[in-house]
Amino acid sequence: MDNVTFYLMNGLLFSGTAILTIALFPVWKLTKELPPGSARSLWNVLTLMILFFIAGYITYAFVNWRNCSSFSELLVPGVFLGGAVFVLLVCLLSFKTVIDLQRINILEQENISDSLMGIFNRRYLDRRLKEEFLRSQRYNLPLAVLLLDIDRFKMVNDTCGHQIGDLVLKNLAKLILSTVRDIDIVARYGGEEILVIMPNTTATHAAVLAERLRHKIAMEEMATQDEESCHPAITITVSIGVAGFNHGQTTAVDLHTLIKNADKALYQAKNDGRDRVVVIGADS
Ligand code: GH3
Ligand code: MG
Ligand code: MG
Repeated sequence: MDNVTFYLMNGLLFSGTAILTIALFPVWKLTKELPPGSARSLWNVLTLMILFFIAGYITYAFVNWRNCSSFSELLVPGVFLGGAVFVLLVCLLSFKTVIDLQRINILEQENISDSLMGIFNRRYLDRRLKEEFLRSQRYNLPLAVLLLDIDRFKMVNDTCGHQIGDLVLKNLAKLILSTVRDIDIVARYGGEEILVIMPNTTATHAAVLAERLRHKIAMEEMATQDEESCHPAITITVSIGVAGFNHGQTTAVDLHTLIKNADKALYQAKNDGRDRVVVIGADS
C-alpha cells in the first residue's frame, strides 16, 4: 500500500510538473509576440508564476520523497495535477484565441482594403459613405467628398510601364494618407481615382484641404526610373472635384447627388486644363 501511495504521489507530481512545463510554451510564444504594454507584463507575470509552481512542486516531491504512508497524502499532488491541467487549458485557449483574432483581423483588413494602394476599397467606401451621410443628417453636420484623378496617367503607363504606374499609385496613396486628417476616409474609387470622405467638413473647407493636397502631390517625386524612355524622376499632377453640403442649404442633397456633384466638379477640372480643384456646393 505504501509503495502504491508513494508511486501515485510522485506520478501525480511528475505529471503536473510536466503539464505546467508544456503550458510554458504558449505563454512564452504569446509573451514574445505581444507588443510592449500591460498585457505583455501580465503574461510575463504568468510565466514567473508557472515557474514558481514548478519549482514549488518539485521541492514538495523532493521533501516528501519517502514520507508518504496513506492515501490522504495524495490530496496535495491531486489538487496540483488538476491546477496544472487548468493552467494548461487556459494558456492553450488564450493562445488559440489570439491566433484566431489575428487571422480574423487579417481577413477583415483584406476584405476592406485595396491590395495595391493600401487604402480602403470600393466596398468599404460605399458602406462608409452611407454611414457618414446618415450621421451628418442625424446630427445636422456638414459633409464633403473629394474625388481625385491623376492627370494623363495613361502616359505614365505607356512611357514607363505598368510596374512604375503601380508604384506611382502606391506612393500617391501614401502621400494622401499622410496629408489628410485622421477622421478622413481615403478609398480607391476605381482605376486611378481616389475618393476622400471628409466628415464634419464644409465644401469650402474641403476645397482648402484639396488645394493643399494638389500642391503637395505636384511637388513630390512619385517614382524614379532609369530607362531612357522615361524621365528619371516621375512627378504627376491631379485634378480634384470637391462636393459637399450643409444642412442649412435650401436645396436638399442626397448621397447620390453628392457623388454626382464631385464627379461633375472633377470633369470640369479636367476640361478647364487639369491640375486644379473645382468645387460644387461651397457655402456662399
Ligand atoms: P486624364 O487626365 O483625362 O485623367 O487622363 P488619363 O490618362 O489619366 O485618363 P484616365 O483617367 O481615363 O486613365 C486611367 C488610366 O489609369 C488607364 C489605366 O491604364 C490606368 N490605371 C487604372 N488602374 C491602374 C492600375 O491599377 N495600375 C496601373 N499601372 N494603371 C492603372
Ligand atoms: Mg486620369
Ligand atoms: Mg481616371
